[in-house]
Amino acid sequence: MPHQRLSARASAITESSTLAIDAKAKALKAAGESVIGFGAGEPDFPTPQHIVEAAAEAARHPLYHKYTPAPGLPELRAAIATKTKRDSGLDVTAQQVLVSNGGKHALFNAFLSVIDPGDEVLVPAPYWVSYPEMIKLADGVVVELPTTEETGFQVTIDQLDAAVTERTKMLLFVSPSNPTGAVYPQHQVEAIGRWAAERGIWVITDEIYEHLVYGDTRFSSMPVLVPELADRCIVINGVAKTYAMTGWRVGWMIAPVDVVKVATSLQSHATSNVSNVAQAAALAAVTGDLSAVAEMREAFDRRRQTMHKLLNDIPGVSSYEPQGAFYCFPSFKELLGTTIRGQRVESAHQLAEIVLEEVKVAMVPGEGFGAPGYARLSYALGDDDLIEGLTRIGDLLSE
Ligand code: PLP
Repeated sequence: MPHQRLSARASAITESSTLAIDAKAKALKAAGESVIGFGAGEPDFPTPQHIVEAAAEAARHPLYHKYTPAPGLPELRAAIATKTKRDSGLDVTAQQVLVSNGGKHALFNAFLSVIDPGDEVLVPAPYWVSYPEMIKLADGVVVELPTTEETGFQVTIDQLDAAVTERTKMLLFVSPSNPTGAVYPQHQVEAIGRWAAERGIWVITDEIYEHLVYGDTRFSSMPVLVPELADRCIVINGVAKTYAMTGWRVGWMIAPVDVVKVATSLQSHATSNVSNVAQAAALAAVTGDLSAVAEMREAFDRRRQTMHKLLNDIPGVSSYEPQGAFYCFPSFKELLGTTIRGQRVESAHQLAEIVLEEVKVAMVPGEGFGAPGYARLSYALGDDDLIEGLTRIGDLLSE
């Protein structure tokens, strides 16, 4: 038997459904077209100046040209523990913090540290595209729990009860959510945390959008509300969204010490420490105040309301009002089966392609998020572009 050329593990990973649209949008831009992009999951603001200065200062110092301990600069781990207490109220020690290359790497380490082959992980859908692929790479089994606007894109205890088996090892929880913008109310966070704690099920709770909530909505941290979960809870966070630092690649997990220990060994063989200079920048970020994120939040809130309204003004489109993060996740289901400029639309993917080709606006179709018929539009872009892009979509779909 000849060997299979590429590994079964890597070959099983699905290509991101966003890639085709993204590549097309970039090609159109390169050809000089005026493309409006709603695809990016990153703030359009630059990193605050004092953080950039801290990195520049560090880069000049030979100490920062060296390795740090694999789990991170001791002073950064301590500062993250302090920041966590300040922002969410969770009491943790520096030994419970592992600094990784972004929240994404922290998630990867977390799944690989807890999941054995065949273990089931409950994943509410719509979900962020990377969760299922990471779980598959850890040989875990993804159990999707579909949610819709009717429950505010929030999973219910009944759904959890119906999905749990003796193989259930973990629940993936994210609030505020990418892609829906849903934020679970405190009582529901508590109920879900208690449900998991009573059954000895691990929870990964992704808190990367903790500071991006709007109106009267409040963020709640599950292990704060359910302290008895602490022994089986991994919190994921990072500087990317809060401080407009997506490119710096600093995130972390907060976990029981035994998890941090095995995850550190894993990381020590894969990547060692995060860039020392980037860690210096993250230290300035988490020890500084939250005024920059307050300013961004104000801009995002304004754009959120504009986008939500303009989407709902388009015939056949219905947008659930997001309470957090920086995405709208409207349904285009009413448009499926119709014809736009002579082209039949059977899926959100086809719709996104037509919108890009005809009016040069990029949005991410819902299929990759486990939500056919929907699309994700980020409102982390300038107000004028946002209105222009939505006007183009509205004009096309109203023809
Ligand atoms: N978690 C969620 C829900 C996200 O949306 C993202 C980024 O898009 C991440 C984690 C990872 O962020 P990063 O790896 O840039 O820190």
